[in-house]
Amino acid sequence: MIWLRVDGRRLRPAKILCVARNYPEHAKESGGEVPESPVFFLKPTTALLASGGTILLPPQSHRVELECELAAILGTGGRDVPRARAMGLVMGYAVIFDITARDLQQQAKEKGLPWTAAKGFDTFAPISAITPAKRVRDPNALAIRAEINGDVVQDSNTREMVHKVPDLIASASRIMTLERGDILATGTPAGVREIRAGDRLRGTIEHVGLLEARVARKV
Ligand code: MG
Repeated sequence: MIWLRVDGRRLRPAKILCVARNYPEHAKESGGEVPESPVFFLKPTTALLASGGTILLPPQSHRVELECELAAILGTGGRDVPRARAMGLVMGYAVIFDITARDLQQQAKEKGLPWTAAKGFDTFAPISAITPAKRVRDPNALAIRAEINGDVVQDSNTREMVHKVPDLIASASRIMTLERGDILATGTPAGVREIRAGDRLRGTIEHVGLLEARVARKV
């Protein structure tokens, strides 16, 4: 298990809560629209990987893709949190890659099965160091960019998110209790691309930080 690092302190990750289709251009490229209320799924914390680590492509998949996302890290938990109080739960922000075995996800969608495998392999959640929330004035107005081997593949702004950070927190907290150490991945902009062994990935979010990872085939 990896620990989250913030201000030189360690924070134990609790759960990774992700949002499907939260940017209209990405919803379009994946053949749909942004749902009216946010659709959540979970990744196991065993998928976490510190920046600089290596994403392992599993033998079960023949197409793994990169999704670069803003993550809000909760320092306080809660349930049924009103939208107006939601930002008070956020202790910091990080860059996260929601690595996805797209072929397995597609098969699951077609069969009406959950995405657990497609999203849950070890190393499928690389995360940067955390920037304290006080240093990020508006999480809903940050340039977000991803590069594969130096080529820019995602280049957007978190203002394109349909469901904003406080809405996501309020909405999620009406489903499940939120805890200190929860990681909320807020969805990816357009430009998701396949990653291959040998690739070098770089994700940057304005005022938040830098996430780097390499890609190798699992042997
Ligand atoms: Mg995603």
